[in-house]
Amino acid sequence: MEKGGIIKHDQAKAPKTGDWRYLKPEVDPSKCIGCTTCVLHCPEAVMEMRKRGKKEIAKSSEIGKEKEIVDIDYEYCKGCGVCAQVCPVKAIVMKK
Ligand code: SF4
Ligand code: SF4
Repeated sequence: MEKGGIIKHDQAKAPKTGDWRYLKPEVDPSKCIGCTTCVLHCPEAVMEMRKRGKKEIAKSSEIGKEKEIVDIDYEYCKGCGVCAQVCPVKAIVMKK
């Protein structure tokens, strides 16, 4: 493999690995400030940013209201906990 290369991942052909998960990451909309740090660090690339819903905006902090929130594809998330570790405001909690 070329140094620094990107391994292409065809999610449509990949097995749904979410069943392997022991702990599930949950995002608290009142804490998430939409910084995207977790998205960049997720080793499975199963996180992406999306617009906040009305209920989430109502719960959000002043900073968060204006920002997108992170969504997790639980069909593929393996529960490694990296996202919870790197979040600067501890908006992700790993739950059983
Ligand atoms: S627990 Fe791991 S695989 Fe799941 S969303 Fe977080 S960083 Fe990605
Ligand atoms: S790292 Fe934390 S604050 Fe930043 S987008 Fe992810 S959950 Fe939100």
